[in-house]
Amino acid sequence: MPVATKNTYKNLLKFTFSAMLIICLTACSFSGPPGAKNGAKKLSKTDFVLDTTATITLYGEGDGELIDRCFELCREYELVFSRTDERSELYALNRDGSAAVSDELLELITLARDYAELSGGAFDFTLGGASALYGFSSDSPRAPSDAELSEAMSHAGWEKVRIEGNIVTLTDPGAVLDLGAIAKGYIADRIAELLLENGQGSAIINLGGNVLCLGSKPDGSDFVVGLQYPFGDAERTIANVSVSDMSVVTSGVYQRCFERDGVFYHHILDPDTGRPRDSGLLAVSVVSPRSADCDALSTACFVLGLDRGLELVDSLEGVYAVFVTEDYELHYSEGFEEALF
Ligand code: ADP
Ligand code: MG
Repeated sequence: MPVATKNTYKNLLKFTFSAMLIICLTACSFSGPPGAKNGAKKLSKTDFVLDTTATITLYGEGDGELIDRCFELCREYELVFSRTDERSELYALNRDGSAAVSDELLELITLARDYAELSGGAFDFTLGGASALYGFSSDSPRAPSDAELSEAMSHAGWEKVRIEGNIVTLTDPGAVLDLGAIAKGYIADRIAELLLENGQGSAIINLGGNVLCLGSKPDGSDFVVGLQYPFGDAERTIANVSVSDMSVVTSGVYQRCFERDGVFYHHILDPDTGRPRDSGLLAVSVVSPRSADCDALSTACFVLGLDRGLELVDSLEGVYAVFVTEDYELHYSEGFEEALF
């Protein structure tokens, strides 16, 4: 794996300039938004979008119409980035193998490719064929056969995606792009922009555990974000972090999983085999200003495992991570405790 440098990261950031409008992302909570102390006013709405339960909380007077527009934005992006929705732009690209794509899809595929490169292929957004075999989001998930998996994996590989201007081409027509490991972060960043443009500077955007806190609490203090205890009750936390203007995103084995014939299956796949990745981890949470970065890196670090994941995070400026190993021990990246406790 190429050693990632801080310069590599800076180049990466250039790709998504719009997101650089210093979005005040802040802390997140996997057990719901932090309570408003001192009786701070807030307005909250929960809905099912992006195949998950999302909650958006606006602090201050709140604006119901603005919250509704945030959810509308989620639905619009679903029609761009969804692998499974037959009406989506990504679906058409996967079906046709080549397309002139929208600015948003181009931006996200470009960012996904950069993270694939940065992580030495641990983050692989071409595993859609393998993912589909398990049906993690369906009512009846299943364990694919070896033959099915090897057929699907013969078409995987992030180098099979060619980007020329706004034309994206799958050099293997059987490849299936899946942006599920980065899209929620990107969308959270876009929602934060929408809120800021409308004068809303204090909010929590929680897209199924992909959390972005905009600004700080109305009294100026940090949000306190609980990181869910793997396999514990939704309310139980393994750690809390204090953040302002940051996103916190977790990738864990307990988020989409099932058991068949005594075997445990989860949704983060090993790019070498297409099987659930066994890296000795239960979860990785990443904290940084931009939610798309957190989302991509939490998946990448989960696949890389503790040592290589820490090495990657420590090479990046302004990015922190905590790894939960199978023995429920916590392992922090450099500076994590000083910056976030
Ligand atoms: P969540 O979707 O729960 O937020 P992640 O951000 O970790 O979790 O993304 C996992 C999703 O990404 C999977 O459901 C699948 O669609 C896709 N995926 C699985 N394995 C990988 C991988 N190695 N690299 C990139 N995307 C992956
Ligand atoms: Mg992710």
